[in-house]
Amino acid sequence: MDAPVRPQTLGPCRHAVRVRGNRWASVPPPQPDELMSSWLHRLARANGRSDHTLCSMMFGPVPLLTRDLDLTMPVALLPVLSEWTGISEYRLSELLLTTLQGKVTGESWTGTGCRWVLPLGVYHRVRRHHGLQYCPQCLAEPIAYARRQWRYAFVTECLEHERPLFDRCPTCASPFMFHRMHPDRGQRWGCATCGEALNMPDASAGSKYLLRRQQARLVAAAGSGGARMNCRWVSSLTLFNGYRFLVHTLTSSRLKHLAKTAIIDRDGTLRPSGTHTEFERMGVYLRRPIMLALATWMTDWPDRFLRDVRSSCSSRSVLMGDRRHIPFWIQEVLDTLPTAQPHRLTSQEVQSCARWLRAGGQAISFDGLCRALSLSTWERMLPANRVLLGEGVSGLD
Ligand SMILES: [Zn+2]
Ligand SMILES: [Zn+2]
Repeated sequence: MDAPVRPQTLGPCRHAVRVRGNRWASVPPPQPDELMSSWLHRLARANGRSDHTLCSMMFGPVPLLTRDLDLTMPVALLPVLSEWTGISEYRLSELLLTTLQGKVTGESWTGTGCRWVLPLGVYHRVRRHHGLQYCPQCLAEPIAYARRQWRYAFVTECLEHERPLFDRCPTCASPFMFHRMHPDRGQRWGCATCGEALNMPDASAGSKYLLRRQQARLVAAAGSGGARMNCRWVSSLTLFNGYRFLVHTLTSSRLKHLAKTAIIDRDGTLRPSGTHTEFERMGVYLRRPIMLALATWMTDWPDRFLRDVRSSCSSRSVLMGDRRHIPFWIQEVLDTLPTAQPHRLTSQEVQSCARWLRAGGQAISFDGLCRALSLSTWERMLPANRVLLGEGVSGLD
């Protein structure tokens, strides 16, 4: 197959616009929900500069572009940026992802990541992780720009166009790097790696309403700082911490039977984990079925969740693990689960029971062993017990 031809681009520095004093001649207004990195790129293009030249002229030798600037841009630079552009500092601060702190995550930027924010894997000017998603139809609009929501790990759909988001080029799978993209004369925004147009209409199926409704709720909570849950107000941080717990239940290797019940049996065949990949580092194709499982639980909270927990034989202690701080709206549901520990068999116990049955002249069967060991339905369904009982039936020692 022929490699896609890199489209002719209108790159920076072709028509550098004169600077008037300390003010850019052309300042495109920030668009709704725009990322700082996206707006700086559009500002640079509007003034015929590269992003690097633009930032050097305004901020001097600050290493801004080789960082995740949407998360780490020092607020001390906002007055400078405001002076150069005439946009208020408050409006500029809204372009940063740091506004999520206290609303979505209680942690600040740790240097390696931020909870619920997709990591970019910044390496010089290149991105190694798929930390910025995109919607081809949003990119095809007259003003193409990158949205803040495209960095959120709980966002997988475009609510405006009611379609799934992409997190990589469909042709070469490289990360979406808006800051390195320039439209050609036909307004085609080509992938920064292979040049394939990313703003072309495609035949992707629409997204599920359940998923979009949940996403709209979470995005609203992230913006306002609060949400309604079972007719009472909760802080968005409490809501997101609870979601975090539920994501953990679906990605933990200890609870893979719950994931099978909630995701694979109900919605498809995709296995969400089996690795210890953090949710933020998962591709959108893995995050989507997890968010859909959570949306399904939330339509009938907590009944559907409890049904799945019971049918997957997951116990309260396994669900809680070693977690100390569980949000109240999760804890009150977990407290309704039985606390008794199930009878976990040992190989020796099963083999000696089998020998005892054989000595009494009885046939060795799965049900016979369960009856002799007085196992409850829950205990006989426990995966580890089933394996040992199977070995007992087949006569393994
Ligand atoms: Zn869109
Ligand atoms: Zn590509």
